[in-house]
Amino acid sequence: MEKEIEWDYSLNKGPESWINLCDDYHQACTKYMQSPIALAKSKITNNLTQDALEIEYECDDFQIQWSKHTFHFIPKSKNNKVYFDGKYFYLDDIHFHIPSEHSLENAVYPIEFHFVHHSQENEPLVIAVLFKKIVGNEELLQIEESCTTINWDLRKKSLRLNPKVFIPQLVNYYAYYGSYTTPPCIGDVHWIVFSTVSSLFSRTILKLMKEKGWTSNNRPIQKQEQKKIWHT
Ligand SMILES: [Zn+2]
Repeated sequence: MEKEIEWDYSLNKGPESWINLCDDYHQACTKYMQSPIALAKSKITNNLTQDALEIEYECDDFQIQWSKHTFHFIPKSKNNKVYFDGKYFYLDDIHFHIPSEHSLENAVYPIEFHFVHHSQENEPLVIAVLFKKIVGNEELLQIEESCTTINWDLRKKSLRLNPKVFIPQLVNYYAYYGSYTTPPCIGDVHWIVFSTVSSLFSRTILKLMKEKGWTSNNRPIQKQEQKKIWHT
């Protein structure tokens, strides 16, 4: 399935054209479980208890890798994990999309971070946290936390952080089955999208995106179709 087919967010090779780039993308990106979707209280089909998700994140070392469309924080260990649906999912990658891919009550937010996990059986689970921008001259992600470097320098090759700093204090969330939001957009991905929007200083990230010539890296909203939506 993994081919080196070039894709991006432009008119010619962007989300509307992904299905035309190769057969694999066409097959996967047209399946019914496509993400992201518009989330809203009126669309909830099932209830979930808050404790269905247990986040077990701790301080760890992460490599910083820039890809063509975003940066990635890659954990050096498998210590960070979440417990959901009767099993553990281990954190593999943190990256972001600008603006947010999911919407909450029809609102799109400036940034959405994705925390990509896999179970031992390789089932994917992605946690999404949407952020609103705090205007000011502060650097990105100026979050007080004992193990986290204040004013993270994303030009460095690694950083030490506890991914918990991204997770909202109020833990209400949506859950649904969808797909990855980048080609080949395969499913079935367990999605956990927090309904609490966090705040962060986004000056640095926007500056770096500008330096790299990026404008946006979000896949547009897909149809909900028959997807069930759980909420705590
Ligand atoms: Zn993503």
